Amino acid sequence: MSLDFDVFVVDPKPIPSAVPGFEEAVGPATWPPSTSTLIRDDGDALLVDCLITAQEGRELAAWVKSHDCELRFVYITHPHADHLLGLPEILAAFPNAQPVALAESIPAMQEQISPGYLQIWSGFFPDQLTGNPVAPAPLTGTSIPFGRSAATVIPVGTSDTGHSTVVHVPGLSLIVSGDVVYNRTHMWLYKSTPDSRASWARALDAVAALEADTLIAGHRNPLAPDDDARRQIDESRRYLADFETALEHSSTPAELIDRMSTAYPELANPYTLWFAAFDLLGTRT
Ligand SMILES: [Zn+2]
Repeated sequence: MSLDFDVFVVDPKPIPSAVPGFEEAVGPATWPPSTSTLIRDDGDALLVDCLITAQEGRELAAWVKSHDCELRFVYITHPHADHLLGLPEILAAFPNAQPVALAESIPAMQEQISPGYLQIWSGFFPDQLTGNPVAPAPLTGTSIPFGRSAATVIPVGTSDTGHSTVVHVPGLSLIVSGDVVYNRTHMWLYKSTPDSRASWARALDAVAALEADTLIAGHRNPLAPDDDARRQIDESRRYLADFETALEHSSTPAELIDRMSTAYPELANPYTLWFAAFDLLGTRT
């Protein structure tokens, strides 16, 4: 069996709205569409990221089973629960798989699965999360071997959170980007700062330098035209720059939302934009 990959896709899912006026203006609040990527070679496999609810973790495990491979590693790209909390369901189905992540990201992952953070995440997904979260172990080096191939982990610093990484599979000219690159989906800028946004732009430069053809974003609009790496990197760069300009010219959440919604009417999950706008510009209307 030669080197290949496949993508598990989860549609946007309803969450309670925490921003005033969203449901009236737009509709039900949702969590962004999400992906998990399986890369196989010679009967072995690597799974990159594993979603958030227990149910989607179980569905992902069943999907991996259907691919008839030995799951060797589960790699988590960055310390956000929506890429991590499905892990116990994967390990229940594949007890021999090794969950790994960049060593520097592990403390933040431990924090994500602490009781305090789990309570926050349960607010988004009441009664849907695992009661037994686990954190990955530190990856030794930056190479993850499977079959006769290997994937390389590229640390890129802060994107939508600290210690972000992407996974590069040169044999497929493929990048699995976690949250460093988004595909036609509003980018997570809640709690962002001028410094974090500048760092994210540099992270995009680092991904572009890999010159891959295909990129699977952690958050991918089901209506996105393709998985072209250059298009997604360029669009993510432009979104960050436009957000910076729109933020500079806005003094209320409504102004920022209006500017970005006008510029990006088709992007998935506008709730992400509203959530950031109310965080960055207070509750002024
Ligand atoms: Zn995410």
